[in-house]
Amino acid sequence: MKPAPRNAAPSDAKERQAAKPVVCYPIPTFPAFDAAPYDEIKGDMTLVSETMVAPRDASCFEVPAGHFCRMISTEGPQVGDLNLWNLHDLDERFFSGKTRALHGTHMGVGDRFWSSLPYLRPMATITYDTLDWYGFDAFGGSVHDVIGTRCDPYTNVLLNDNEYHYCCHSNLTRALASHTGMGLTEAEPLVHDVMNLFMCTGFTQDTKQYFMKSSPVRPGDYLEFFAEIDLLGGLSACPGGDCSSGHSSDAAKCYPLKVEIWKPAKTPDGWAPAKANAYSRGHGLD
Ligand SMILES: [Zn+2]
Repeated sequence: MKPAPRNAAPSDAKERQAAKPVVCYPIPTFPAFDAAPYDEIKGDMTLVSETMVAPRDASCFEVPAGHFCRMISTEGPQVGDLNLWNLHDLDERFFSGKTRALHGTHMGVGDRFWSSLPYLRPMATITYDTLDWYGFDAFGGSVHDVIGTRCDPYTNVLLNDNEYHYCCHSNLTRALASHTGMGLTEAEPLVHDVMNLFMCTGFTQDTKQYFMKSSPVRPGDYLEFFAEIDLLGGLSACPGGDCSSGHSSDAAKCYPLKVEIWKPAKTPDGWAPAKANAYSRGHGLD
């Protein structure tokens, strides 16, 4: 937040404030997303796995490159916190900050989940979203943000001075440890900032503080992505439920989420798994 200023505005303050914004990463520099090749191959595909995510818990699931993953609302409005890793190298993981810089605050069809440095490549592409009708509401809110982090027990101790063990951070840590056989200490640093599936969020108009509001998701809604590399996913059913009031407690009504992995009979023409970033990593010394 910006406190009351202690410095007088300079004489040209209005002029400086009037400078026009320039989009940092203009979207037209990306290859344009074309839904048609993905829609076409979805006509012939096979369900290869189903994973249930229990309320206030998380599950891991594997998505081979060239497969579709659907994250589905089941019994009631519920938000999810999504982590993605390269299945073969967990050091490469979803980079929510760069994804936000490239695509904006909330993700939609055609946006890519970008991986961390020094890899920085598309891990997955969003191919369908039953909540695409929502757009941005009158409060500036929307779904599937990459502006939050994940609810975690450390912030909860700071703000509420109590221990709660079923925040998304802990849920994802337990799920990753269980799936890989790692201990909690090894798994925890691999958990990273998330994409907030179905969560409706934004920044307040006046103070620009992060807000959440009741999610518009209903049973049957889903977000679908296409894996650009072999992925390990982790999805937590947030203890905030639909995130209409609070989180980091057992107060909210929570529901399971479902993850389906679909194998298409063929991949889109010309598609190949994403290659690692081409930067030389010289950093000016070679
Ligand atoms: Zn959460």
